[in-house]
Amino acid sequence: MKLVFFLCVLCASVVTCFALDRDAFTFTRYDLNLRIELEQQRLAARGKITLRNDSAPPQKNAVLQISSSLSWRSIQWHGKALQFVAQPYESDIDHTGQLSEAIVTLPNEIPQNGTVELEIGYEGTIPLDTTRLTRIGTPREVASHTDWDQISKRFTAVRGVGYVAWYPVAMVSASLSEGNSLFDTVGRWKAREAQAVMRIELTAVRASTEAPLTVLVNSHTCKAATLDAGAGQMITADCTFEPLAFIVPAFLIANYSVLDRQVSSFFYLPDHKAEAEAYSKAADAVAPIVTEWFGAPREKAKIVELPDPSASPFESGTLLMTPLSNDGPKLAQMTLVHELTHAAFPSPRPWIYEGLAHFAQALYRERQDGRQAALDYMGLHREALLEAEKQVFVPSATSVASKPPTGQALITTFEEAFYRSKAAYVWWMLRDMVGEDALRKALAAYASEQDHDPAYMQHLIEAQAKRDLGWFFEDWVYNDHGLPDFRVQSVYPSKMPQGGYLVTITVENLGGAGAEVPVTLRFQGGNVTKRVKVHGKATAVIRIEPPSAPREVVVNDGSVPETNASNNTFKVPELLK
Ligand SMILES: [Zn+2]
Repeated sequence: MKLVFFLCVLCASVVTCFALDRDAFTFTRYDLNLRIELEQQRLAARGKITLRNDSAPPQKNAVLQISSSLSWRSIQWHGKALQFVAQPYESDIDHTGQLSEAIVTLPNEIPQNGTVELEIGYEGTIPLDTTRLTRIGTPREVASHTDWDQISKRFTAVRGVGYVAWYPVAMVSASLSEGNSLFDTVGRWKAREAQAVMRIELTAVRASTEAPLTVLVNSHTCKAATLDAGAGQMITADCTFEPLAFIVPAFLIANYSVLDRQVSSFFYLPDHKAEAEAYSKAADAVAPIVTEWFGAPREKAKIVELPDPSASPFESGTLLMTPLSNDGPKLAQMTLVHELTHAAFPSPRPWIYEGLAHFAQALYRERQDGRQAALDYMGLHREALLEAEKQVFVPSATSVASKPPTGQALITTFEEAFYRSKAAYVWWMLRDMVGEDALRKALAAYASEQDHDPAYMQHLIEAQAKRDLGWFFEDWVYNDHGLPDFRVQSVYPSKMPQGGYLVTITVENLGGAGAEVPVTLRFQGGNVTKRVKVHGKATAVIRIEPPSAPREVVVNDGSVPETNASNNTFKVPELLK
């Protein structure tokens, strides 16, 4: 308390300590000039940003946060220096685990919806930094495979919000040690900035004239040039994100060569031409299934190599940063199916954009090795999904005081386990329900620029499938009703007078989300599968007529994610003679 009081007195001249609202302003425009000195690992930025007050009260102060390895040099309004207090602010939205926060006194109060344009300057270094991970116990070696962002002479890769705050942002502190706090905070920020425009003019300089450098930015509109810099090298790129649309703006600078093909470009590091060629072959192999399902790619997928062979891949938009491995075509093909689907099927909604790209991977596995191989691939998503649902879906009965379960509806979620893993299952279930033909036609009718209504996709699929899917979208997309939990409640076999059997099966769903699930009856000499719709907390009955004595009933082949798969088999007792 003493410390808070002391800090308050310290900054009382420029800021009212307790009135600070870090979420008040949305940043609507960035116009930044970046100078990057590779040998010194330095970044210096000058430019303009526009802030809009999205809070109800008028705001006299604005918060600007950048990585703690950078420092504020100037903040001006119409050429006039503004007073600001710079302070460290702990937050895991940056790899250093800390931000340089400037609390700026604005020239006048900005009313609700009012905007202010500031001229800013900041600089510092961006070295490799794993602090936010090592301080929660991750070994440094492991952490550097995830937080690989850095500016350095040989290899530079810097991702934006959630990794390195290389451009100003403002949000409340997020911590990796508090469940989903980081995902939530960064996700909310991305959603607020989805309509923002960012322009960067980047100049990278290197004193040496070793192998020529390439600069890559994950924006659709980029003009790059190599300039003569006397004894060294100077390259520039002028790029615009219009709008940012959930993209994490990132730049890479390294000695890349490019293998440019019809549907994709591969940027590879020295001596890795063979790996790049293997990936390009993989792209050729998977292009037909992508086109068949999602149409022809509208732009090229860009695959950019990371030098650390153990680095975690990162994708944003149609650019994928990944180590290129040369151990068999399977991994490369799965990677390329995903990226080409992005290039073919843009959508502003993560559950559609990412969900379909993962669904495409399952489709490809099925095409290669059959349905079980696809379900095995989907199974890799199951653990993450079960864990995520457990975290957001705590039954309220456990504690009166605990918040009611809100879940993570696919339509609004920022969490990867939902918009990737759960969404992949949702697409797979939709295909099982409405059939391949209807789903493909619905996807062909989708236009991302017309996707304003959350129910747009539902209506497109219903129009092709000629059936009501409202119940399914309510349980899986518009709300989070958790997952189903199927069990075979009872099986009644009886002998038919004309031969054969009639088996009446009751399936119960103990979970909250309804689904159409396959039920397989095994009998002497074969098996038969039928699908049955079981709403949440409900039962459904189906009848199957096998030619010989029934032996076993199994509900769910793994195509519907459920919380407990250990109660899905029912041994049929031998019939009384
Ligand atoms: Zn993706």
